Amino acid sequence: MTEQILLNKPIRRFIAGAVCPACEGMDTIQMWDEEGTPNRQCVACGYADTLDARGNSVPKELPTRVNAQKPKAAQPKTQAVQFFPNPKLKKAD
Ligand SMILES: [Zn+2]
Repeated sequence: MTEQILLNKPIRRFIAGAVCPACEGMDTIQMWDEEGTPNRQCVACGYADTLDARGNSVPKELPTRVNAQKPKAAQPKTQAVQFFPNPKLKKAD
């Protein structure tokens, strides 16, 4: 039955004139709804994102990419911090 298909697979529609933000291909963007959330995917390069409530693009994590972005390790350059004793504090009466 067609109803089953509708339930299981969200209808994907190509968005005419849409340009993929990743590969800049035109008419390669499919759009569908998942639980009320608009999803987009580029059939050319696999770029996918969703749109949040404000319509902002929320890129999905691509399985082909290494997702683990190493946070820039804060490498504090060892600076020789020298504390100069304040002579005023040491002033002995
Ligand atoms: Zn693309």
